[in-house]
This record gives sequence, C-alpha cells and structure tokens, in this order.
Amino acid sequence: MNGQSAIFPSYARYPITIVKGEGSRLWDADGKEYLDLMSGLAVTNLGHCPQRVKEKLVAQLDVLWHASNLFHTPNQEKLAGMLTANSCADYVFFCNSGAEANEAAIKLARRYNSKVLGNERYEIITFHQSFHGRTLATLTATGQDKVKEGFHPLPEGFVYAPYNDVAALRSYISDKTCAIMLEMVQAEGGVIPVQQDFIDEIVKLCKEFDLLLIVDEIQTGMGRTGKLFAYEHYGIEPDIFTLAKGIASGVPMGAMLGKAKLRDAFTAGAHASTFGGTPLATSAAIATLEVLLEDRLPQRVQEMGEYTVAKLQEGTAGNPLVKEVRGLGLLIGVVCTQPVADVIKDIHAAGVLVVPAGPNVVRLLPNFLVTKEEIDKGTAVICQVLAKHAEKAAAVQS
Ligand SMILES: *Cc1c(COP(=O)(O)O)cnc(C)c1O
Repeated sequence: MNGQSAIFPSYARYPITIVKGEGSRLWDADGKEYLDLMSGLAVTNLGHCPQRVKEKLVAQLDVLWHASNLFHTPNQEKLAGMLTANSCADYVFFCNSGAEANEAAIKLARRYNSKVLGNERYEIITFHQSFHGRTLATLTATGQDKVKEGFHPLPEGFVYAPYNDVAALRSYISDKTCAIMLEMVQAEGGVIPVQQDFIDEIVKLCKEFDLLLIVDEIQTGMGRTGKLFAYEHYGIEPDIFTLAKGIASGVPMGAMLGKAKLRDAFTAGAHASTFGGTPLATSAAIATLEVLLEDRLPQRVQEMGEYTVAKLQEGTAGNPLVKEVRGLGLLIGVVCTQPVADVIKDIHAAGVLVVPAGPNVVRLLPNFLVTKEEIDKGTAVICQVLAKHAEKAAAVQS
C-alpha cells in the first residue's frame, strides 16, 4: 500500500496492516500473530471483539441503530444513570470522541461562567506536555507546540503552566481564569502521574478563586489505572471530567460529565451532536461498563499493573538505557535515556505491539483481561530488545 494509498498521510503509520483481532491477539495481512499490549491505544480494554459486548451490539443491530437527539432513547438514559451512579458527576453529555468530549468541557466551563455566574472569565489553565485532542480548541488546550504547527490563528483563552510545579501554579491565575484542566496521568506526554501535593494545590486554588476543575480521563478513565476513574486515586472530585477511548470497547464514543451546579449552563440548544450517544454506541458502552463493574476489573487492573511493572523492573535492572518504570494500573511507561522509536520498531518486529509516549518512553496499555503468561512473554520481548539496544549504544560509545 506504500506510496499508493488514497489516505492523507497524517499518521506516521507502522508498516503493519492489521486485519483481525481476538482477545490480546492481532493478526496482520500476512497472517503473522502479534501480542497486543497497547489495546488500540487504551481503547480495546476488554480485548478485541469481547463476547459480552458483541452480544449486546448484535442484539441492538436488530432493534435500532440511530435516533435523533431530538428524541429520548432508553440506552442513553441507562448509561447516563450508570455513569453518574459510579462517579462524582450528576449529568452526562454524549459525543463521539475524546476531542469532542473536551470541546464540550471547554464550552461548558465558559458558558457556566457567562450564563450562570454572569462574569467574563474564559481562560483555562492547562499544562506543559499535556494532550487534549486535535480539534482547534483542544489542540490549543494541549501543552505541546508540535500539534499546533501550521494551524494558526488558534482560539484564545488557554494558558500553560508547568505540571507538578506546586509553587508556580498560583502565578498563572488571572481575573480571566475560569478553569484548570489536566490529566491525572499525562499519557501522551510520557506517562507522568500527577503528584498528590500538586492536585491538592489545584483543588485549593479552584476553591479560593471559584474555578472549575476539569479532569481529562479520556485515557485514564474506565478502569485503566486500577480505579474506574483515575481521580479516585487522589481523593478529589472534578467538576467536569471527560471520557472516550475505552468507554465502548472500540465503538466510537465520548462523554463529558459534570456536577449538578453546571446543569443550567447547558440549556436546550447550547450544545449538540448528531451521533452523540447512538443506540449502537451506548449499547456497547453499557455492556462494557457492566463487565467492568460485575467482574471488578479495576481491581484486576491494579494487580496486573503491579505485576507488569515488577516484571519490567526485573528485566531492565542494570540496563543503562532505562531510567525508570512508572505508571498507574495498566498505563505503564518504561522511561529511557534516549529516543525509543527504533526500540518500538524492534519490539513490533518481535511480535509485540506497544507505543511511545513522548520521545523517550515505551508505553504499555494491555487489555484488562491480559494473562500473566501474556505479560511474561511481552515484557520478556521488551526487555530483550532494550538490552540489545543498550549493547548497541555501548558499542558505539567505546
Ligand atoms: C486520546 C486522547 C484525547 C483525544 O481523543 P480522540 O478520541 O482522539 O479525539 C484527549 N485526551 C487524552 C488524554 C487522550 O488520551
């Protein structure tokens, strides 16, 4: 397909064509099997084509695919009820992707200030090396210059503060600030968990200045970090949080959730999406959430996460290329001293799929039902490739 594809080359794609998936396994067009330790980037959290989600989807295919949001649907009400019963939020807006969920969050924060509080505040503080999406507003919210190149002029109203810098944060607040938005673990930015003292400071400042706290749980949510939502690890409650990626096991869907006080900011006509929360997507999301809750998968994620980190630490001990293994639950980064692009390619060639996070981090996002045998096999491959690259680096130096 190289050179002849009719698709815009906006992705730096790996030279693998994926045609089939089952559980933790994927197959390419040549029939080669891969162990998938990235889950379509934190999407296929129950593995590929999970049976219980498939059954609900297939049943829904016979009933109703789409209904306009000018009408009610039982699936949306049920899913919103499940999400709010299991989180700190009271209301949900359904959309189709992470960027759309963050767009909705940004719009809600601004509109709450203008329509409910009646002020003129619109600025949102976000953080260096954050990632919030690729629409104009969400790429502007993103604290990385590379996603903004060539897209100016950008929307106004975003200010970037250093992440985990407790002392600096206060100085970024102005009389225009309406919200602080962050990831509990910066995922794309390098698998960097937020520090407790930093999130405590954010909560304190939000209270002092009457700011909204927006948490982007698009990658960390739905069980990925060992709790249903990553904010639970820190004993805090965001005013708004956003979901997508794993919410419906691979069927496109996003959601923006908020506290009761925000309800009157999204009055009729304030925001909308044709496909937001279709009967199909919501059936997949309901089934996914049922499996997560019934099988207590966040607990399993926590255990498997600890197991995986231990295996990686053991297998990279003494490797000068590896600085640290860190993460939360099954969102794990092997932090290296140099760029990992070639390491990733060699891991793929050895039949294991992982992704980078920032230039120097190998990121693992195994599905929640991954077995210890699969982790043993996958981490062994990763550690072998890292050992080989350390040898190569040493040979170059001597
Ligand atoms: C993936 C991601 C997004 C963007 O989601 P899309 O569905 O690609 O629009 C936003 N925030 C975080 C933290 C993400 O990981």
